Amino acid sequence: MSARILLVDDNRINIALLEARLAREYYQLITAMDGPAALALAASESPDLILLDVMMPGMDGFEVCRRLKANATTAHIPVVMVTALTDREHRVEGLRSGADDFLTKPVNEMALIARSRSLIRLKQMTDEWQLRAATSMQLGVEITPRKNEDAPARFLLVDIADAARILRDMSETGHRVEVRQNIKDGLETALAGDFDVVMVGLKIGDEDGLRLCAQLRSHRETRMVPVLLIVEEDDLGSLAKGLDLGVTDYIIRPIDANELLARVRTQVRRKRYQDRLREDFDRSLSMAFTDSLTGLYNRRYLCAHLQTLLDGARTAGRPIALVMFDIDHFKKVNDSHGHAAGDMVLAEVGARLSAHVRNFDLIARYGGEEFVAVLPNANAKGAMIAAERLRKAVAATPIAVSGGGEALTVTVSGGVAVSGKVEEPSSVLLERADQALYEAKAQGRNRVVVAEDPGVVLYAPMADVDRTLIAAG
Ligand code: GH3
Ligand code: MG
Ligand code: MG
Repeated sequence: MSARILLVDDNRINIALLEARLAREYYQLITAMDGPAALALAASESPDLILLDVMMPGMDGFEVCRRLKANATTAHIPVVMVTALTDREHRVEGLRSGADDFLTKPVNEMALIARSRSLIRLKQMTDEWQLRAATSMQLGVEITPRKNEDAPARFLLVDIADAARILRDMSETGHRVEVRQNIKDGLETALAGDFDVVMVGLKIGDEDGLRLCAQLRSHRETRMVPVLLIVEEDDLGSLAKGLDLGVTDYIIRPIDANELLARVRTQVRRKRYQDRLREDFDRSLSMAFTDSLTGLYNRRYLCAHLQTLLDGARTAGRPIALVMFDIDHFKKVNDSHGHAAGDMVLAEVGARLSAHVRNFDLIARYGGEEFVAVLPNANAKGAMIAAERLRKAVAATPIAVSGGGEALTVTVSGGVAVSGKVEEPSSVLLERADQALYEAKAQGRNRVVVAEDPGVVLYAPMADVDRTLIAAG
């Protein structure tokens, strides 16, 4: 995994030391020797990680970090403070200024590399979602406004040793904490609940907490949840293993409540940001597959989905019926009542079709005034009954097209094609339905015609009246 790291330190020797170490991991490095240069490079180069010295003349590392986090273009770049400062107060100040971690010089190499790798992985995942969000915006999806990212959160703690004390400290700040004391209960609770962070002790009684971390990552429900590992001071090896398993953060015992709060705050913020990006993406997906006038699936979705349905039905030995509907003389509606009235008719026809199918049937807007109904498990007879029901649902009641109570009688013609016996691509099934629709139009409109089953007779004579259901009136 190649990535770019911005190294910030006012001391050339420190830069050279870190450079040598990181270059061995094939990272590309950019360097800055003071705060303002670091801010400029972070914005222009968009690195995957920033290793930031704290004590620098002019602007110190805390201030640099605060400014990075306050700027939307750099807020999501992970920051690790690398410093000679060792006391807890500075560590907490660093974490509070938004840093993801705070490593003390001389830096433990294994910790630095494992931490860098895990933060870079998180950053690249966020990048991926940001790209998708950019596409969503191009599709016209409104980006969800930023909510209060520091609102109280839900935590799950799977640990024995410090549980009581952590719980007390956390609930004083308004957060809600649930505690489980073994892996099985911990996993079950995590899978069932929507937690903002899961905190896992490295040793839970005689169980190995890393096993739970791995399980959390392997389940779809918890794959994205931030996991904070609670490690012993002398067990950096397990920490490195945890980071490789996808643990997102850690804290070393004895636990300092302020440090823990600062760390989970960073995790909660990142999770909420990513959730927002994902929701926007989901909405853009549904927009890409939905017709905005009728709210029905669009042709793109129908074509993609129909082939999947056909393949499944063939394997299961079941039929699928397709009805293609087209509004009769629709051009006249537009011509004599205006395009807006035409749109109202389209929306109402779509709504009536949707309201008169079973819930596993699917209605799509195929084109201008064409709709397709997909009816799984329906043979020709069943499809004809359904298509007639739909045709009548449109024709039976006039459609209101203006506030003044004006209503138009609108009819549709339908063509039915059934798949099942022979293997044919979805495009051929659609074509056969379209051909039957053409026949219905030719025979006078406001009726449904069923296409011949190609497995029986390929070219049926047009005079086969049994296949035509003449409109009742
Ligand atoms: P037929 O009975 O043979 O189907 O006649 P028709 O008039 O319905 O068919 P034609 O294909 O000639 O006309 C379809 C019309 O549908 C032309 C087009 O302007 C209109 N149309 C297509 N999409 C929309 C839309 O989104 N809104 C409105 N108001 N009209 C649309
Ligand atoms: Mg038409
Ligand atoms: Mg048409």
